Amino acid sequence: MIFPPTPENIARAADLIRQGKLVAFPTETVYGLGADATNDAAVQRIFEVKNRPTLNPLIVHVASLADIASVADLEGRSDLQDKLRSLQQFWPGPLSVVLPKGKSISSFACAGLPSVAVRIPDHAVALEFIRAAKRPIAAPSANRSSYVSPTTAQHVEAGLGAKIEMVLDGGACSVGLESTIVSLVSPNPVLLRPGAVTFEQLKAVLPELELSRSADTPEQPLSPGLLREHYAPSTKIVLKAKITPSEYPARVGLISFGQIEGSEQESRYSAVNVLSQSGDLSEIASKLFAAIREQDGLGLDLIVVDSCSEVGLGRAIMDRLLRATAKFT
Ligand code: AMP
Ligand code: MG
Repeated sequence: MIFPPTPENIARAADLIRQGKLVAFPTETVYGLGADATNDAAVQRIFEVKNRPTLNPLIVHVASLADIASVADLEGRSDLQDKLRSLQQFWPGPLSVVLPKGKSISSFACAGLPSVAVRIPDHAVALEFIRAAKRPIAAPSANRSSYVSPTTAQHVEAGLGAKIEMVLDGGACSVGLESTIVSLVSPNPVLLRPGAVTFEQLKAVLPELELSRSADTPEQPLSPGLLREHYAPSTKIVLKAKITPSEYPARVGLISFGQIEGSEQESRYSAVNVLSQSGDLSEIASKLFAAIREQDGLGLDLIVVDSCSEVGLGRAIMDRLLRATAKFT
């Protein structure tokens, strides 16, 4: 059930976490499905509820920089502490960092790896909830595995409502794409997943940062789970640039990144979502998943979606679109 984030409901959510139960909660990126990251049984329940492969590790959410030290093992690692100092300007925010795993964290949360991904979300409800729970919160996106991530409480309820007691409602997510992930446990820092903290911003403070494409191999993915995840809707979805209108089936939906001509809408498309009149990438990112979900519910034969250049936030937007369209192309 969906609950408004009143102090009473946040206190109740925190109690549920301490009892080993799951709570879905808002963050600025997407909604998370949270459990006590130190409780094996609670963390295992996340994998069951989402039908998530157990090899796909979770991100652990904390409320302060000091709490990162309790989740990760930074003993004698002044090199890592230096790098974390360079990154702390992005917290609270949409950045997850992979560090050596601290003992208290359930190894199920880390899929048995010796490392843990940690993040401080930039959302008042998330921070209050984590503080009240007094536990690090392991949380993947609150959707069934491999579907599009939820950016409203209603998305969570539609997908997982029957399986979880409580969804805290924080409104629509402001960023709308999953967090950037940077690994600090490889020889050089590596960008494992692009997000709203951009490669360019990170490179300015971590000059040795590499893109995962150059460091990753199919045999040994640096970030297990990322290669499999597709964030895909059920309806076939393709990039608009990869298809000509003569190939369109009967009912086609368009997800546009900018203003379109009225005639184009009427003649070709059964549904149109314009994500930003001005082509603003932040606005596009924040509305993208909701638009894909909306069109996925319309019984269309095809969804076509615009592209943008892969720089800044555009790198994260195109990453998600390439995953969403992968199995259809
Ligand atoms: P989600 O929370 O669903 O956005 O997925 C979290 C993603 O974080 C996983 O799919 C992994 O790719 C990545 N991740 C989490 N923990 C680690 C880790 N210890 N090492 C590398 N990647 C990780
Ligand atoms: Mg996910």
